[in-house]
Formats: sequence, C-alpha cells, structure tokens
Amino acid sequence: MMGSTHAMAGFVIWFAMVRANISPPLGIIAVVLGSLLPDIDHPNGTIRQMMDLPQFLKHPISTIIPHRGPTHTIWAGVLFSLLTAGLAAWGGNPIVGSLATGLAMFIGYSSHLVLDSLNPTGVKWLIPLKDFKLHGPIRTGSRGEEYFFYGLIGMLFLVAVI
Ligand SMILES: [Zn+2]
Repeated sequence: MMGSTHAMAGFVIWFAMVRANISPPLGIIAVVLGSLLPDIDHPNGTIRQMMDLPQFLKHPISTIIPHRGPTHTIWAGVLFSLLTAGLAAWGGNPIVGSLATGLAMFIGYSSHLVLDSLNPTGVKWLIPLKDFKLHGPIRTGSRGEEYFFYGLIGMLFLVAVI
C-alpha cells in the first residue's frame, strides 16, 4: 500500500479514538507515525522521503534491510511501541499515559501490517517464528487501492457523525 493510504488509515483510527475519548498524549503522532514506520525499509517510503537521505545512504539501508522483512513483523511493532512508551515517559508523561501512547503506536503499526496484508505481496507477521503469510488481492497503486482509500474517507465521515 502507498504511504498516503497508510497515513489515512492511521488518521481514521486516531479520529475514532478521539471520538471515543481514548486518545492518549501525542496520540495522532504515535498512530500516524506507527502507520508509516514499517515502510522505513522501502527506498521510496514516505518517512524515508521525508528524511531525504542522501542517495549513498539510501542504497545501503535497503541492501541491509530487505523490503517487507523485519520491519513488517509484529515483533518490530512491539519493539517500536515499547520505545515509544519509553520516550513518552522520559519526556515527562505519567506512566499510564506513556503506556497508552505506546499502545497507540502499536495500533498504528498493526494497521500498516493489516493493510499490507491486503496486498498480493502480503506480510509474514510472525517470521522467523512462523513462516505463514497473509495476503490479499489489492495491488499497490491500483484502482483497488484507490477505492480502498475512498472507503477510508467514507469511514472518516461515518466516525464523525456517529
Ligand atoms: Zn509496508
């Protein structure tokens, strides 16, 4: 899936959390960042583009970390979530709030894996523990992804009126 689709999914989730009064401190940053973070292994990933790494660094990173490798696992999600909770606590947030921010990161991160699982390339969620792969019919950048994106916008309106 493309970065814009992932970010939109993260935004819808965060908005739903706000409407349900369960958005933690820095909730939007944690969820949306989490929804984009797994593609840090992708040379044309959104975050990578935002960081604007020089070409000589871009190539080595994609050589070391294959796309849809370690960052597209539930383990990486747990790791980044713990890191986020730690950072939030270090930044002076109360423990419960920090854990909630970590959980928001986990939700955003998982949403990325769910969306990529709708893709023919799929996601090996539990590698190296288990080798099974979840995959679906929606190709990246296809008409199908476009419709999926409109579906997310529809959900945004739905959340707004509920
Ligand atoms: Zn991805």
